[in-house]
Amino acid sequence: MDIEPEQIRRAVAAHLDDAREFLCDLVRTPSLPGEESAVTDVVAGAFARVAEVQRVEMTNTLRDDPDYSDPIPGIDYTGRSNLRVAVPGAGGGRTLLLNTHLDTVPPSQGQPDPYVPHERDGSIWGRGSCDAKGQVATVYLAMAAVAELGMTLPGDLIAHLVAEEEVGGNGTLAMVRAGERADGCIVLEPCDFKVLTSIRGAVWFRVTLTGRPGHPGRSGLNRSALDMAIRVVEILRGYHDRLLADSRGHPLFDRYDNPMPLTVGKLHAGNWPATAPGEAGLEGVLGLLPNKTAEQVMAEMTAAIAAEGGPEIADNFAIHFMYRHDASETDPAGPLPAAVLNAARAFGVDAPVDAMTASCDACFYNNILSVPTLVFGGGSLSVAHSNAEHMPVADLARAAEVLTAAAIGFCGGQP
Ligand SMILES: [Zn+2]
Repeated sequence: MDIEPEQIRRAVAAHLDDAREFLCDLVRTPSLPGEESAVTDVVAGAFARVAEVQRVEMTNTLRDDPDYSDPIPGIDYTGRSNLRVAVPGAGGGRTLLLNTHLDTVPPSQGQPDPYVPHERDGSIWGRGSCDAKGQVATVYLAMAAVAELGMTLPGDLIAHLVAEEEVGGNGTLAMVRAGERADGCIVLEPCDFKVLTSIRGAVWFRVTLTGRPGHPGRSGLNRSALDMAIRVVEILRGYHDRLLADSRGHPLFDRYDNPMPLTVGKLHAGNWPATAPGEAGLEGVLGLLPNKTAEQVMAEMTAAIAAEGGPEIADNFAIHFMYRHDASETDPAGPLPAAVLNAARAFGVDAPVDAMTASCDACFYNNILSVPTLVFGGGSLSVAHSNAEHMPVADLARAAEVLTAAAIGFCGGQP
């Protein structure tokens, strides 16, 4: 297929205003995890102009899946759906699957007008503008460009636009369980045009400690659950240090000082200054690299707390894992990374192969469906989830150009 970069550039430019408006509509429509229905309707309406749109219903049986994440207990799936959009090919080519998410994290403290999209310094600002509504707009713009070029690609171009990525990927899990066949998958996240072929995993954990509450005057009889929780944090820090040392030797992850941090984000205990707390809970996330499975890390964390905290902790703690993602990798020399790198080169975009030091939905495609999957996208992870979240309009155009050229190159190849 002979298409010049300049033709793609013109096709993207023809729909850029439309995509920018669409992105503003998305930012204007709040979509916290579990509350994506309104934005799903907006997205379905827009994509109907450029692709076949199918609503894929979710049901509460998803909660029984062994890979289900439950940071929001009891979340209901009745009446909720993901979207599967498709630009069918003529046949004989490779199928390219795209994935990105419709949910966002809540506004950050101090974020001005999170749901009032505003354009400033060439960027669109607001919650979700880059993570990942700017990615949804990128997929839309690429599909619009393919239509504008009047092309029927040999292979299918499909996108999964999903719910609940920010709480563990339950939307993508539902799509993967529904079944999909593809020769390659690009998960779109804001990552400064890096081609991320190794993606770390993560476990989210909740540790509950049971103490023996009482008056401070009961010398020696109380057992403070708060003190136990602080000791557990120290034990987990020690475990993280050993895990990090064991995980060295990976060419892409070794560039980072700590590609798999331990973060304890929540700690609560007690209800009175002068009472030893009877219960304490802490919640956090620990990253992991491809040398370990999430299963191994969960077992080792549990064993470390039981072994190092003494009998008082060993007999009085419970641990629950809300989110369990393995790391995932695809060969950077494979046909999909090659198609993306070629496309980036054609548009003068600096797109280095790198590792992703965050966890995302790529593992479901790489590990469950065995579809070679990488992560790519415009916008910057450095502003995602922050009170300065924004998406440069130039990135929207560049990413759509690269995606369009990558789709043409990849879908034109032999499956
Ligand atoms: Zn995201």
